[in-house]
Amino acid sequence: MVLYFRGEGVTAFQGATFDDIVKPQIDLMVNCKWCSLHVALKINMDKSWINIRIRLDPLYEKGADDFVEFASKDRPNATEILCPCMKCRNMKFMKKVDVAEHIVVDGFLSSYTHWIFHGESSLT
Ligand SMILES: [Zn+2]
Repeated sequence: MVLYFRGEGVTAFQGATFDDIVKPQIDLMVNCKWCSLHVALKINMDKSWINIRIRLDPLYEKGADDFVEFASKDRPNATEILCPCMKCRNMKFMKKVDVAEHIVVDGFLSSYTHWIFHGESSLT
């Protein structure tokens, strides 16, 4: 879990505002009761399923679906996202349903541990 504090460092992040960059990626926003600052909580995605060897395992399939759902939050209006399977290697855009299938059939790109192409903050 990562805490973001709404402050100068975050609002100035790469020229974009807190609302543009950080807010879409957070899971929970609360107000600090002492200082009235916004405190954003980010719960990191569970990635342990990537190491499951039998990809027909329901936990692996659920992980693939969860990944697509996570990536969809980053691009809510897009029908296609970069596919992180072993064949596409984040070089091809695929329909969301196909991405989940690729992940199960071809495997998840094991070197892709930090999902920067799918909305995971580079701040984490
Ligand atoms: Zn693919």
